[in-house]
Amino acid sequence: MVEAARVLDVIDLVPTFNSDDVAGYAARYADASTAELVAGVLADLEGRVAAVSSFGAESAVLLHLIAAIDKAIPVVFVNTQKMFGETLAYRDELAERLGLTDLRVHRPDPFTLAARDATSLRWSFDPDGCCAIRKVEPLRRALAPFDAWLSGRKGFQGATRTALPRFELDEGRLKINPLADWDKGRLDNYFAQHDLPRHPLERHGFASIGCMPCTSTVSPGEDPRAGRWRGWDKTECGIHGEAHDPAF
Ligand code: SF4
Repeated sequence: MVEAARVLDVIDLVPTFNSDDVAGYAARYADASTAELVAGVLADLEGRVAAVSSFGAESAVLLHLIAAIDKAIPVVFVNTQKMFGETLAYRDELAERLGLTDLRVHRPDPFTLAARDATSLRWSFDPDGCCAIRKVEPLRRALAPFDAWLSGRKGFQGATRTALPRFELDEGRLKINPLADWDKGRLDNYFAQHDLPRHPLERHGFASIGCMPCTSTVSPGEDPRAGRWRGWDKTECGIHGEAHDPAF
């Protein structure tokens, strides 16, 4: 616990944006296409914005939109050290294919892991606590140099993501969801149109892909995120505003 607190305390959380700023961005880009929005915010926030990607089932779309504008945008990937090997291979394949030049891989703090997850089994009895030290804290650390970040979330992905706005406030940062109103059909068309590679686990029934111990296949007609933390009353990892210590 001491080690975890030490890591969290040194993360500088200086608010840059407020709710009025978020409303202003939402109004300014209300009628913009997705490509116009991405181009606009990358220009507005040059040097202050990163993309965060899990290199999961549909991550290629947002990364392709970004790379079409600027291949040097920092792309943050948190390796929880519980990832599928297929995800790591897909990450490297996609980054190479899109020509991304600033892929930043962040990992959990080793002192925190030693103190709070020495057996590497915390996911099995306290998934919120596990996400906190393996996802939330590394992402906070990764985002410390930035005022804004782009997320690939979509509104159709599950009950907790309906009515997802394009812009949100996240601990004083601007969080941008360019794909908020995209549906599965539009994503699939984009993959086909741009000949983008699919995550290799999709063909095996994985619709939403996170850490290996907490991801299972879904049946036809099931919520795409139903295979995440199956059997637990948990739908998000915490980086998207779910309340739990320390609040991925
Ligand atoms: S998704 Fe599972 S293994 Fe990954 S950080 Fe969360 S609880 Fe741990």
